[in-house]
Amino acid sequence: MSTIAEPQFPTIGSHPQGTDSASPFEEMMSRFDLAAQKLGLDPGLYKVLREPVRETKVSIPVAMDDGRIEVFIGYRVLHNIARGPGKGGIRFDKNVSLDEVRALAAWMTWKCAVVNIPFGGAKGGVICDPQSLSRAELERITRRYTAELMDQFGPEKDVPAPDMGTNPQTMAWVMDTYSMHARHTVTSVVTGKPLSLGGSRGRVEATGRGLMLIAREAAPLRGLTLKGSRIVVQGFGNVGSIAARMCHEQGAKIVAVSDIHGGIQNANGIDIPALIAHYEKGKSLKGFPGTQPVSNEALLELDCDILIPAANENQIRQKNAGNIKAKIIVEGANGPTTQRADEVLNGKNVLVVPDILANAGGVTVSYFEWVQDRAGFFWRESEVNERLEDIMVQSFRDVAQMAEKYGVSFRIAAYMLGISRVAHDTMVRGLYA
Ligand code: NAD
Repeated sequence: MSTIAEPQFPTIGSHPQGTDSASPFEEMMSRFDLAAQKLGLDPGLYKVLREPVRETKVSIPVAMDDGRIEVFIGYRVLHNIARGPGKGGIRFDKNVSLDEVRALAAWMTWKCAVVNIPFGGAKGGVICDPQSLSRAELERITRRYTAELMDQFGPEKDVPAPDMGTNPQTMAWVMDTYSMHARHTVTSVVTGKPLSLGGSRGRVEATGRGLMLIAREAAPLRGLTLKGSRIVVQGFGNVGSIAARMCHEQGAKIVAVSDIHGGIQNANGIDIPALIAHYEKGKSLKGFPGTQPVSNEALLELDCDILIPAANENQIRQKNAGNIKAKIIVEGANGPTTQRADEVLNGKNVLVVPDILANAGGVTVSYFEWVQDRAGFFWRESEVNERLEDIMVQSFRDVAQMAEKYGVSFRIAAYMLGISRVAHDTMVRGLYA
């Protein structure tokens, strides 16, 4: 095997027309193919990197509060471990599918490589609606899911974290279940834990903080400054609400936000700290004083400078990309933009800062948490935030340089950077046979 060889493999790439599909894995592969072609990736390495290491489906029987037995389906995909243990969140959502988890696992591989941290990629999910489950039911699902994957998880093997529908409490249950089986407390098996159980300062805010830093770095490339920019945020969970708060604190004007039930807007800017307090009380954006309702579809097309999609996949597609007015899109969600939409946006000179760079703040501080747990020595919040800023800013510059050198979009540049690092390390390790 040799890496970064002559560009000699037109057979690679089954998506020459671009994709606008409902399959996150196809969307991921279409970008992987484009980046592999640009890099002139060796066909053998291409085959190695496109295949996940392992895919597991688990059945999760749970006694519900009313005495019924329900069986939930869960997945864990370990995509690549060339550069370190698998790393990636656990999603609880009714739309979880193996295709989605497979894509999310691959994105984790490229993301960890883009920010140059020593992890591979993995992801997990359980098909369930967390809103309709009690705390006790969620705990039983989490514990059984963890027990089923006991042999696969581990600080040196595969380290989960929160994602949509899961939170620090879920991670505490994962840690406790794993530790009960291991017969000793193993905090470093999972990240995103509560602070008192080996969590890291700054982890809850990390993805949102990273998005703010990336928005700040990207703004001058379209003649803007973060201060004074008008920003729209889709999704008001961990990522979206904190990105909104961090950008608000830097003097940006958040003109609209939404959750799964719809959005609210105010062209003069929304008081985000007050909105967060309102949302925490009622779990609803509706009726926040001084705002008007807006649908999730219309929200994406509002007049603004920066759009931060922070909900789920495939929100920006060929059909609505042409109507987007933002000059910059900073992807908080994983996979919010299809490849066909990318083509439309590139044609309009919209700067799309891709997920695998823009939302990497979360996994970066997860890496810090894993380091702190293993060392048994915990950092001040200012140290965490400083190190995060160094990594996000350096990674933004690395991707910008790659985009400039090869004349490609930021997305393809980020894939090229991630893939070339994983390809290089795979080649240096060699194949064990
Ligand atoms: P979350 O569960 O805390 O919040 C999700 C938010 O999106 C909620 O406000 C929900 O109402 C909203 N939402 C869901 N479907 C929607 C839809 N169709 N339209 C509009 N809003 C919708 O999840 P999160 O942790 O904030 O994750 C959001 C996204 O960010 C996901 O794509 C996730 O993979 C990605 N991400 C999360 C992290 C992290 O550290 N949590 C890190 C990197 C990337």
